[in-house]
Amino acid sequence: MDTVTTETETGTLIVGAGEAGLGIAVALRNAGYTAPVTITGLEADPPYQRPPLSKEFLAGEMDEENLLLRADDFYQDKDLRLLTNAHIEDIVLDEDSAGGTATTSAGHAIHFDGLALATGASPRRLPVPGGDLDGVCYLRDIPDARRLRTLLPGATRVVVVGGGYIGLEAAAVARGRGLDVTVVETFDRLLQRVAAPPISEFFRTAHEKRGAKVLLGASVTALRGSAGSVSGVELSDGMVLPADLVIIGIGVEPRIELAQKLGLDCGRGIIVDDAARTSNPAIVAAGDCTMQPHPLYPTESICLESVQNAADQAKVAAASLMDGPRPERAVPWFWSNQADIRLQIAGLSMGFDDYVIRGEPGTEQFTVLYYRDGRLIAADAVNNPHDFMAVKRALAKGATIDPTDAHNTGLPLKTLIREI
Ligand SMILES: Cc1cc2nc3c(=O)[nH]c(=O)nc-3n(C[C@H](O)[C@H](O)[C@H](O)COP(=O)(O)OP(=O)(O)OC[C@H]3O[C@@H](n4cnc5c(N)ncnc54)[C@H](O)[C@@H]3O)c2cc1C
Repeated sequence: MDTVTTETETGTLIVGAGEAGLGIAVALRNAGYTAPVTITGLEADPPYQRPPLSKEFLAGEMDEENLLLRADDFYQDKDLRLLTNAHIEDIVLDEDSAGGTATTSAGHAIHFDGLALATGASPRRLPVPGGDLDGVCYLRDIPDARRLRTLLPGATRVVVVGGGYIGLEAAAVARGRGLDVTVVETFDRLLQRVAAPPISEFFRTAHEKRGAKVLLGASVTALRGSAGSVSGVELSDGMVLPADLVIIGIGVEPRIELAQKLGLDCGRGIIVDDAARTSNPAIVAAGDCTMQPHPLYPTESICLESVQNAADQAKVAAASLMDGPRPERAVPWFWSNQADIRLQIAGLSMGFDDYVIRGEPGTEQFTVLYYRDGRLIAADAVNNPHDFMAVKRALAKGATIDPTDAHNTGLPLKTLIREI
């Protein structure tokens, strides 16, 4: 799987061997596409699931082989050519067709007559002195997670920079091992970008209750080291937190370099329409690398970093490559496991102007329902799978739940769904 030879056969080239890239390949085959399909990935591993890297895999509850999205023989059975360790450095398009030639960093050429970009995202780097010290870790791929899993048992004081999902999940795993854990967040609440204040407050309390420290409104100015290894995290107020392991989870940057070289329109991500077509309609893109119209508010463009989005957008992209009927877009959903807390999110809460708390956060089982212009747009369900399912169902039907009724925990949420 690791060697690339000069290819003479055309077919579809999928740049990116993640959830989206593999999803496009599978959807093409499922739709009866018989021409060659080549999937290329930078990484040494065949396509795998990233979510467990900050959860079960990091906690030592899952083996590496269970991370794989498909077993090796799947690629053979579906006649998919998977090229790992294959960095597509350049792509030149033919002038008179949708085809072209891609070149890997090893200098091999891959000809294609259909192109899909599923290049994902890279972790945002913390731009402070000391970022390259030993013991400073990011969490995006299997090598990152392996390294962190090896370092955790020898660590005593862990500082997690970033109070988003990945940082909080890693903090929960480290705290579960009994380590001294401090989460440092620049904003004045956790999950500031993605959740309402009651959810932020709930997670702060939950992590503190489980023994972690949470510092809000705190900016890291430098990582201090001794003998090449990290020894502390310096904050803007001069405080230094001792640390022998620092985990950085401050978001991602979509990988758009190839798209830019191809002259495709890009914002933060590769701009696609609701058919996953880029500004060159012959080229599709899917997953974390894209920026797409909001499903409810199409004049707004959004980046969605989730398995569900990568998988569903991949199906849409494959349909566009084949000029087939466009599959219906599913309701966006997401999850996060932190210690014994399972958060499930249905819909997109961004731009909410009102919210309702259903249940009592102190019981660690409650739901926040988000509204915009009086219409239900999303919910965060904490240890509350029934509420999650009800909201997902309501959103799929384009229905709503009256905010006044939603307070009433005596009535199952699914009985409160109302057509608009
Ligand atoms: C630790 C962690 C936890 C997460 N937890 C959750 C969760 O709980 N729930 C959830 O929904 N989502 C979660 N996510 C997000 C989710 O995993 C991603 O949204 C999803 O994997 C994106 O898939 P993708 O295929 O778009 O991108 P990626 O998985 O990033 O794949 C991109 C692929 O492109 C390849 N590539 C890039 N450039 C090139 C090039 N030039 N040439 C060749 N190949 C290239 C890369 O090697 C890679 O194979 C998590 C992510 C991480 C890192």
